[in-house]
Amino acid sequence: MDKSYQVKRITNLYQSCNECGLPIINCICNKSVPVCTKAKLWILSSEREFYRPSNTARLLRLINPDSTEIFLWERTKSPKQLIDYISMEKYATFVLFPTENEKLENEKLENRKVEFKRTDRITAFIILDGTWKEARKIFRKSDFLKGLPVASLEPNYASNYDLRRGAVEGNLCTIEAAIEILKITGEIGPAQNIEDYYKLFLKSYRAGANGHELKG
Ligand SMILES: [Zn+2]
Repeated sequence: MDKSYQVKRITNLYQSCNECGLPIINCICNKSVPVCTKAKLWILSSEREFYRPSNTARLLRLINPDSTEIFLWERTKSPKQLIDYISMEKYATFVLFPTENEKLENEKLENRKVEFKRTDRITAFIILDGTWKEARKIFRKSDFLKGLPVASLEPNYASNYDLRRGAVEGNLCTIEAAIEILKITGEIGPAQNIEDYYKLFLKSYRAGANGHELKG
């Protein structure tokens, strides 16, 4: 996500901040307590996400800038930097698929599912960012993801993400997925910091959608 993408407004009273995505009166860019996770979080994103104020990948990058990278997925062009990372010996890379119902319809995928195990390599997770439909498309149409082990999440809490209509129940948004990953890999402290920031985002978003400044 770069400056060439202007995040859409959620209220016609205020422009959206291009960093956190919130209306500028509720910008939370300076309210994060930055973390630096050991696990790398690589977001492979549909272009539409770059415009969506409800996107949570940019929020993750704001609070965890050194270990989060966002890559644009394009049908006709491969994300070269990401492919280079995948090929590097120092990383143990997993792809995270928003699984749930996929189990029944795709046995092959089931065979690729693994339990996360720590190694002496740096753990990296690729998170697909988009609507459920977009994420599935990215997964299906990206040959460079085909050889990777699939990490599955069984979140033990319900998603708090209610900023989009038509979300599939039980699916986590991108930052929630990242939080769950960090719990699995044992980075509890950073996971908590990110979760606090995410909660502030949700509150600020809801107030901002009504054109209000978040007080307190
Ligand atoms: Zn901001």
